[in-house]
Amino acid sequence: MVSASEALDIVLSHARVLGTEKVPLLDALGRVLAGDLVSREDLPSHDNSSMDGFAVRSSDVGSATEVEPAFLKIVGESSAGHVLDRPIGSGQAARMMTGGLIPKGADTVVPVEHTREEDDGRVGVLKPAGPGQHIRKRGEDIKEGEVVIRGGKRITPGAIGLLAAMGYSRVRVYEKPIVNILATGDELVRLKEKLRKGQIRNSSTYALAAQVNEAGGVPRMLGILPDKPGKLRKGTKNALNADVLVITGGVSVGKRDHVKEALDEAGVEIRFWRVNIKPGMPLLFGTFKDTLVFGLPGNPASTGVTFQQFVRPAIHRMNGLLDVHPMRLSAVLDQDFVKGDTKRHFVRGVVRQIDGTLHVVSTGTQSSGAISSLARANCLVIIPEEVTSLKNGSMVDVELIQSFF
Ligand code: AMP
Ligand code: MG
Repeated sequence: MVSASEALDIVLSHARVLGTEKVPLLDALGRVLAGDLVSREDLPSHDNSSMDGFAVRSSDVGSATEVEPAFLKIVGESSAGHVLDRPIGSGQAARMMTGGLIPKGADTVVPVEHTREEDDGRVGVLKPAGPGQHIRKRGEDIKEGEVVIRGGKRITPGAIGLLAAMGYSRVRVYEKPIVNILATGDELVRLKEKLRKGQIRNSSTYALAAQVNEAGGVPRMLGILPDKPGKLRKGTKNALNADVLVITGGVSVGKRDHVKEALDEAGVEIRFWRVNIKPGMPLLFGTFKDTLVFGLPGNPASTGVTFQQFVRPAIHRMNGLLDVHPMRLSAVLDQDFVKGDTKRHFVRGVVRQIDGTLHVVSTGTQSSGAISSLARANCLVIIPEEVTSLKNGSMVDVELIQSFF
């Protein structure tokens, strides 16, 4: 039996970063940028006004007051998209709109609130304005040659805006891993079938496909295999044509658990079987050439938790993400917790902020068969191996289940 961190290290040591592809800008949302993105130009490309007002020479308005305004002749207008192509001399002003380019000769912008327009084409400036005031300088946002987004980062809506501002209509991102999903179990039926006695719906495949999507992979749902060694061997062999194969059920020590044996016979090299965790102890991991193979325990909570802890980081690594470890937050545990073993526990919990501090409670029953406990959870509480019990008010680490950019 390996520990949780040994298991994750083994998985990640076999997960290779995939190739890259260019995609249209909007399709890049949530994908991982391949290679540092270097700006090809200054942003903004020219000095421009951040206010509506008047572009003037600061030396002309140094002693302006309400009582004795500095009167300047309005010689033109500069607004976003309309360039004023003449210089501003001493005693002159250009009417400015936000985003308009600063005309030559002017070195400051007086906001319209600090001016009073006369009827004779002049403007009275009522306050002094120092050089550079209300001017967005060329390159102050981004300089040409600057790395604007590091490779290995997920592309956010903000990054899409930045890429658009720099004229990129296509972006190079890492490919998504194809993840084959197979369920095993004589009791499983498809969603539309009528349940007979002893049968249950194959729900885990759907939860897994959703988790694969969210993690950044492409799920392929391959259906259900029975607990028959021959059929399992053939079925798993046929499912190895992907970057990842996830099989649920049949990896424990029951009389009908034949998945390990079937994978072995299909040529999969078993890297570990059984991890010191709860739920999810029977987890199996192996490789077939470059394909990662996960045998997840069939209990729905075990399936969900082991995916979250071991498959998701592998998908993230294949996706090219630099940091594959989920963000951990510190929270106050609002209940006692007794743990009668030395496993690492992942407790399905609900975390929320109360008076500026994160507090967490479990979702109730932690039976690994409880589908509801995972559906209600927004986090996993991590209880380390060496901890045997926790008092109400203890600090614990939680990992959010929803993915973040
Ligand atoms: P196993 O790991 O095959 O022993 O399965 C453990 C438990 O999980 C059993 O109660 C199964 O009926 C249930 N189970 C297995 N696979 C699925 C699935 N795809 N969807 C829902 N429940 C499942
Ligand atoms: Mg089974």
